[in-house]
Amino acid sequence: MGVCFLYDTKLYGERILVGSSITPRHSNVPNMEKIVELIGDKFVVIVTPADHICKKCTSLLFHKDELENDLKLVKNAMLLYIYKRNMEYCLLIGLLRILRLSMGT
Ligand SMILES: [Zn+2]
Repeated sequence: MGVCFLYDTKLYGERILVGSSITPRHSNVPNMEKIVELIGDKFVVIVTPADHICKKCTSLLFHKDELENDLKLVKNAMLLYIYKRNMEYCLLIGLLRILRLSMGT
């Protein structure tokens, strides 16, 4: 019986290979890349073909991926609002300049 690659607990039942092709649903980034992204540059991650992660860690990894995707959607929506507002402001300023020029002021 092996241990989970992430949490060092004994593996019971469902598990997936760390290097498997199963990827989080939202980003389609392989699990291995998600784990490296999670751990960061402070550690070197060495994976063997026999390394597994448990169902709980897989679920957490997928949930993290989903939240990151949601955050990206929120950021894009907010940036779109800011962009639209600034475009309206820029158009208004442009119209005022044209009016001033046409009035000779
Ligand atoms: Zn685990």
